Amino acid sequence: MALSAMGPPHCGTMEPMNLIAARETAADSGLTWNPGFAALGPDFYSALRPTPLPNPYWIGRSSDVADLLGLDPHWRSSDEALQALSGNTVLPGTSPLASVYSGHQFGMWAGQLGDGRAILLGETTDGLEIQLKGAGPTPYSRRGDGRAVLRSSLREFLCSEAMHGLGIPTSRALCVTGSPAPVYRETQETAAVVTRVARSFIRFGHFEHFSARDAAPQLQALADYVIDRDYPECRSHSAFPGQPYAALLQAVSERTATLMAHWQAVGFCHGVMNTDNMSILGLTLDYGPFQFLDAFVPGHVCNHSDTQGRYAYHRQPNIAYWNLFCLGQALLPLIGDQDLAMAALAPYKTRFPAEFMARMRAKLGLSDARSSDGELIDGLLALLAQDRVDYTIFWRRLSHAVARNDFSAVRDLFLHTAEWERWLLTYSERIAHTPHALAADLMLKTNPKFVLRNHLSEIAIQAAKLGDFSALQTLQGLLERPFDEHPGHEAQADFPPDWASSIEISCSS
Ligand code: AMP
Ligand code: MG
Repeated sequence: MALSAMGPPHCGTMEPMNLIAARETAADSGLTWNPGFAALGPDFYSALRPTPLPNPYWIGRSSDVADLLGLDPHWRSSDEALQALSGNTVLPGTSPLASVYSGHQFGMWAGQLGDGRAILLGETTDGLEIQLKGAGPTPYSRRGDGRAVLRSSLREFLCSEAMHGLGIPTSRALCVTGSPAPVYRETQETAAVVTRVARSFIRFGHFEHFSARDAAPQLQALADYVIDRDYPECRSHSAFPGQPYAALLQAVSERTATLMAHWQAVGFCHGVMNTDNMSILGLTLDYGPFQFLDAFVPGHVCNHSDTQGRYAYHRQPNIAYWNLFCLGQALLPLIGDQDLAMAALAPYKTRFPAEFMARMRAKLGLSDARSSDGELIDGLLALLAQDRVDYTIFWRRLSHAVARNDFSAVRDLFLHTAEWERWLLTYSERIAHTPHALAADLMLKTNPKFVLRNHLSEIAIQAAKLGDFSALQTLQGLLERPFDEHPGHEAQADFPPDWASSIEISCSS
């Protein structure tokens, strides 16, 4: 159906509005549903059904997420599941919807956005939201087609599970399905749908939306919904008595600080930290042109569309604060006092460095804190940057080196070996009081052997395009347990090949 037939983007429809829509399926998935986000009412979304896709097929599935949802063991791999999770049928008991939000994109107010291609099926009785991303147009699709291509869907599927494997807060991915239906980006590609799962998909942008429209009752209803569901402690916060919305802002700031510490420590670049991609629960959300660093280049920009480098790796913690500031502005009508809002944001500035240091200490195998640690870590990062050392390989080799008390394989990573040796001397003194076996154990559980490097995704994508999902499955197995050795898979833990540097990942997905 032509989008123009739907009229201008709006919300407020309670009835499914698309004409070619999925029919209800009779098969029992084992899922039961809460009223969830839909209970907020029609100001917050448009009810609609996914638009079917021809001849769907499975690309990848996560049995871990299927278990998490308590999916019926027979249903989860059945044709009924394939049809429902490709948007061709609707699960009984669900009222699918697309939510409306706004946001700042690349530092500029972008106005209304909304779920342009993600459709929320609902919230399970275990409190997990299930979304189909790429399931067809919505009133918020603007000029988009409501679809997602195989390439980016496979990346989102893998990275969601990789981040979970690393212990980093994230939305999860139950599965990715494909269809031969053509989707036009720079070239013709084919369609895919990712089934995403998260405690909540609410973004900073949801708050910005109602605030920008001076819709105070809706803004408050949304904040109350989030507080009652996920931040009940904000109703009785000692630092903010009688100020639940200031307490909410502080709690979100703290979770976001924790998330940034995780990203920076593992070398993850999100690529599009717009406020509409920032989770109110501090989850990693909306995987697009993300990248795990290969060489440690602090100014690395993973998103080919980010010409200004706004979302460069080393800027992420400051950008997160900028985004929190936008959230604070959005909540100001509820908080009522600018000083109070600033006070709620302030802990970010101490929480992020503290959390980052804690993670870096663990990466170094240090189980206590000393005031000189900052200098030790800064010195190391400067050396890694100077020689563009591979970030993941460095940490894994250092972990094994501590275990064996043999650092030669780490020295091989540096050009400025004398400077490395000097740093190593200080580190050796620092770690001298910790039993090395204990330190190495901590390091091997903190420094992953496997991360989702761009070239690994690319190999899995090229094979999947030809109908071979074995590379994807192997990679998924490694990333689900990234701290295990997985003998026989050294290739996936090795340096990137030369061609990896020519991979260009943009916002096009
Ligand atoms: P993203 O950069 O993927 O987070 O998307 C930003 C906004 O554009 C969100 O409102 C998306 O729903 C929307 N969007 C992105 N791609 C599409 C698409 N192919 N069709 C419809 N909406 C899209
Ligand atoms: Mg987004």
